Amino acid sequence: MTKTDVIIIGAGASGLMCAIEAGKRGRKVLVLDHANKAGKKILMSGGGRCNFTNYSIEPDNFISHNPHFCISALNRYTQWDFLALIDRYQIPFHEREHGQLFCNDSAKDILNMLLTECHNAGVVIQLNTDITDIERIGDSFILASNQGRYSCASLVVATGGLSIPKMGATAFGYKIAEQFGIKVWPTRAGLVPFTLQPDDKDTFSALSGIAIPCVVSNARQRFRENMLFTHRGLSGPAILQLSSYWQSGEAVTIDLLPDTDLAQVLKTKRQQKVKNTLKTILDSYLPKRLIGCLCAEELLALSLQDCSDKYIALVAAQLHQWMIKPNGTEGYRTAEVTLGGVDCDAISSKTMASKAVPNLYFVGEVLDVTGWLGGYNFQWAWSSAWCAGQYV
Ligand code: FAD
Repeated sequence: MTKTDVIIIGAGASGLMCAIEAGKRGRKVLVLDHANKAGKKILMSGGGRCNFTNYSIEPDNFISHNPHFCISALNRYTQWDFLALIDRYQIPFHEREHGQLFCNDSAKDILNMLLTECHNAGVVIQLNTDITDIERIGDSFILASNQGRYSCASLVVATGGLSIPKMGATAFGYKIAEQFGIKVWPTRAGLVPFTLQPDDKDTFSALSGIAIPCVVSNARQRFRENMLFTHRGLSGPAILQLSSYWQSGEAVTIDLLPDTDLAQVLKTKRQQKVKNTLKTILDSYLPKRLIGCLCAEELLALSLQDCSDKYIALVAAQLHQWMIKPNGTEGYRTAEVTLGGVDCDAISSKTMASKAVPNLYFVGEVLDVTGWLGGYNFQWAWSSAWCAGQYV
């Protein structure tokens, strides 16, 4: 049996960060992963350029049944701390909209930096390891795997969420929590495209490829971003963001002209004796194909001069408050994150250790903390893992 101080299950963003910090403290650290490569999600993140953090990190950018839980870790290891690390490795990066920070070249830069730090801290990473059993015997955890048995004083669960099973995502972390009597909130896909009801799909799949700036909202949240029509439904940052706040069966409201008061514009043009049809006027505001799908043909054929206030209000409502009820989401197959997970109330926000099971830690996405789109999920992985790394 191999004996070590710390075993970390999961060689993803949070597992590697926790390993680095624990290794720097002189702890003997072994990272086990069933995948054939460390950090696969880092490599595919941000379209291959990894949106590794954000200039503005606030607790409001995270969703959890315990919204206060993330505050301590985010304050102790901040975006500026991660940027200092990036700076040390001279990784070129740039800022995109909303303070999002991406690598200039490749997400490989981030993974290579973490692997180098692991190496420097004496961390051992062992891949292709399927863990079959975990037991607590005395003060130790005993792990059985296809590669042999291991014993450790501290066990860190860094197995991430359920999104993209093809990349190695499993429910193992939740199962470990349940094995030790720790509550797990039901999970669901977040930051995920919507699919449409069959009738809507027939109508809107013709718009596939059209992207428009809009405001997407429901009773709980609103996001001003781009929306993208796809052949399966609706995607783009505005939709992904709202999907994390969406409940099955609920309609969402989309303002397709957030910078224009359409009713006012039409009334003014009518007063100015503009003789165009509604269609001609609207075509200068939104893609023709979209207008055709959203407004009745008879209405569009009307000359503006023949439009009553009632018709104008009807058109304005249709384009400012387009309501659509998604059929569902594309699910974990394409979701960027998993909502729900290990109950934060069972975990110390300072150390990420279980309150009930000594020396059992949970870090990263396996916890019930889910960030918005924009680098927030990686920052949570870095911050939570850094905290655990100081105590394991
Ligand atoms: P992961 O990085 O998922 O790591 C978990 C590790 O555990 C994996 O290596 C996995 O193989 C291993 N594991 C799982 N089950 C087992 C098991 N049974 N036995 C052994 N090992 C196991 N977030 C951002 O902030 N910015 C982005 O640009 C961004 N882009 C993304 C793009 C995509 C396509 C996806 C899917 C996600 C993206 N995310 C992004 C989210 C981000 O990748 C995750 O939130 C983050 O990786 C979570 O880190 P983690 O360490 O908790 O889990």
